[in-house]
Amino acid sequence: LDVIAQVEPRVAAVIGQELADQRSSLKLIASENYASPAVLLAMGNWFSDKYAEGTPGRRFYAACQNVDTVERLAAEHARELFGADHAYVQPHSGIDANLVAFWSILAHRVESPALAEAGVKNVDALTDADWAQLRRALGDQRMLGMSLDAGGHLTHGFRPNISGKMFEQSSYGTDPATGLIDYAALRARAREFRPLILLAGYSAYPRRVDFAAMREIADEVGATLLVDMAHFAGLVAGKVLTGDFDPVPHADVVTTTTHKSLRGPRGGMVLCTEEYAPSVDRGCPMVLGGPLPQVMAAKAVALAEARRPEFATYAEQVVANARALADQLLRRGARLVTGGTDNHLVLVDVGGFGLTGRQAEAALLDAGLVTNRNTVPADPNGPWYTSGIRLGTPALTTRGLGEADLAEVGDLIVDVLASTQSDGDSKVRYRLEPAVAERVRARATELVDAHP
Ligand code: PLP
Repeated sequence: LDVIAQVEPRVAAVIGQELADQRSSLKLIASENYASPAVLLAMGNWFSDKYAEGTPGRRFYAACQNVDTVERLAAEHARELFGADHAYVQPHSGIDANLVAFWSILAHRVESPALAEAGVKNVDALTDADWAQLRRALGDQRMLGMSLDAGGHLTHGFRPNISGKMFEQSSYGTDPATGLIDYAALRARAREFRPLILLAGYSAYPRRVDFAAMREIADEVGATLLVDMAHFAGLVAGKVLTGDFDPVPHADVVTTTTHKSLRGPRGGMVLCTEEYAPSVDRGCPMVLGGPLPQVMAAKAVALAEARRPEFATYAEQVVANARALADQLLRRGARLVTGGTDNHLVLVDVGGFGLTGRQAEAALLDAGLVTNRNTVPADPNGPWYTSGIRLGTPALTTRGLGEADLAEVGDLIVDVLASTQSDGDSKVRYRLEPAVAERVRARATELVDAHP
């Protein structure tokens, strides 16, 4: 920080402040974590100055020998950790990983039947006339993903994201009675809609997904099964999600972020079968800018960490902590989507406290609890105000908090929500009893101080 301060002291100061803020609050955002010092340090070095478009051994720039080594290492750790045929570690984020997956599935499909017909084997060999034919073929392509309010992500075919413009989109939701994915309804929808891509995965679904069932449905309708495991990659890595609940043996293509439960640097990654490897490897320059070698170095470090036995213990604790949190919330009368959790996140329907998600998020923050508002299925308040609060345990588990601590965090959350009142008809304004805010903030500080 001293070196940075010599150039722009305000940047040094705000980095220090961010550390202080993250240290002193209870971080319950389900998509956040604390990367290790080794991961952070691997990102701040001279690799940042290197260009390396292409893939290891086949670069468009000279002197990429060290980038080749680091990219090969990251890919090797990813393949070994997840048991994947192929790993592409260049995507800069989860959205980028999904873009790579979409375009490679499209390219792969078009290359196989449509281009074989046109006598063309490889996208690189396409003429303008071929591209025109390709665009017409792609115009009909469909994607079936989880609906936003049931916990899907924007990149799963929704309007604000390019995926909603690339594909004709349809979505599957959850059973209104149980909150769980209704696989029979999903199968019926897939039969009717005939998607090119069946997309499984979520940002806010507190249960395991049956990927074996998803595979059967994809096969039945001739779809490519794409799984976005951005949220739960750490639980797959830690072997908490195995068998039918491990996406890798079932999916054609798997995308992920590396910074959520996987606890690596900010970034993305694509895993796939041999069949999809050539088209996935075209991610850069197809849709990505040059790779960030310093982040690939950090991915290699994080993946090496995730292969250690301690990481499996961590992943188990993440789930045990989420269950302890959910159990206590239920005991205190909170309404939980699906009635509980079996992964790393809990979704509280704060309509039960007469609040919007926006009010609950702000009141909890006043008391030192960092959460984020989220839609619940059939949300009456829409995606901006919402009726839910999403809670996750990856970050607090990294700090070393255990089940008893998370049960207490459940108490603190209910204490705050039950002491918060909506101000008139506003979906934004609220009143939180100051004495409760103060008491909870003091206890939150004690909890984090005990786990520095
Ligand atoms: N996919 C899912 C399921 C996510 O939850 C997210 C992030 O919230 C993303 C993709 C996008 O990741 P990023 O923010 O790294 O682009």
